[in-house]
Amino acid sequence: MSNTLDKIENKLLNNVRLTKEDGLALYASNDLARIGYLADTMRKKISGDYVYYNINLHVNLTNICVGQCKFCAFGCKKGSKNAYALTKQAVIAMIDKAAQNPAMKNLHIVSGLHPDWPYEYYLDIVKTIKKTFPALHLKGFTGVEIMHFVKISGKSIREVLTELIAAGLEAMPGGGAEILDDNIRQKLCPNKATSAEWLEVARTAHKLGIKTNASMLYGHIETIEQRINHLITLRNLQDETGGLQTFICFPFQPHNTALEKSITRTSVWDDLKTMAISRLMLDNVHNIKAYWVMLTLPIAMLALGFGANDIDGTIGNEKIMHAAGVSSQKALSKDILIRTIKETGRIPAECDCNFNIIRTF
Ligand code: SF4
Repeated sequence: MSNTLDKIENKLLNNVRLTKEDGLALYASNDLARIGYLADTMRKKISGDYVYYNINLHVNLTNICVGQCKFCAFGCKKGSKNAYALTKQAVIAMIDKAAQNPAMKNLHIVSGLHPDWPYEYYLDIVKTIKKTFPALHLKGFTGVEIMHFVKISGKSIREVLTELIAAGLEAMPGGGAEILDDNIRQKLCPNKATSAEWLEVARTAHKLGIKTNASMLYGHIETIEQRINHLITLRNLQDETGGLQTFICFPFQPHNTALEKSITRTSVWDDLKTMAISRLMLDNVHNIKAYWVMLTLPIAMLALGFGANDIDGTIGNEKIMHAAGVSSQKALSKDILIRTIKETGRIPAECDCNFNIIRTF
């Protein structure tokens, strides 16, 4: 195996792109320290020593969702005891409270697919937020939500995105990609965007000048080969458009989901290996995020040595992963993020939702 890793290292040193077979060989190796070293070396080469974070607020407009995805603990049916749906006034009040902190610069808006809300509600929310808080950067709506808007409005992907951009949308998150394999999607999330639809939303957004993130939900029913295929699909998209800003690998959190009896949470070993392999395979994506909410802060900190250069943000009040019982906090202070990053010997870089640096420490 060390011979295989030698060959992979040689490719990386000579800027030769890794193949699917290389990705599979990396997963087959248990030399985690060396895989981490390779990923950290490539991280330094691709993105330098900055670790990006942002001071942000997550806004989840509703958890009522027609999706009913088997891996989701957040979405629920209308009328269920945990269901909520925020009015526009409640959304504005929530943001207003967070915006009392002048350092808060970014909104991250992701929600369930509400069965009754019209498309115009979302447009109106975006317009009102931008009008009320013009200084805030607005990242919102996954590819899955955009396909929902397409369905309920009868408009095309391009029309929906054009209208949201005109209303004030500035970037898009990477959720909903899960594993871009329709056999898996059919089993786990048949009611939402297909692989091709998710990719088409991202492609169209990039063509319209909107950057997006991309994610991978791993550790459920997928095979290692499907993880690698997923990474290569995203790499191909990035070759085509250059519009992916950061890649996030989400370890599946089984608690409170339909899969909790059959699947256990991935190991830290798998999480760090997946982080490192993502860095190595996605040679054309600048940023790799260690999402502390799902990983927990100690593992996210370790992941900074395994290829990651983005640790997300302060978040304010995380709901989606906490519905699945994650043990991390719902928010972190900027000081904790800065201290965490500095302790790894790297440079904290506060940024907006498009990775423009606001200040470094
Ligand atoms: S993952 Fe998204 S679409 Fe699926 S049930 Fe949860 S909130 Fe709904």
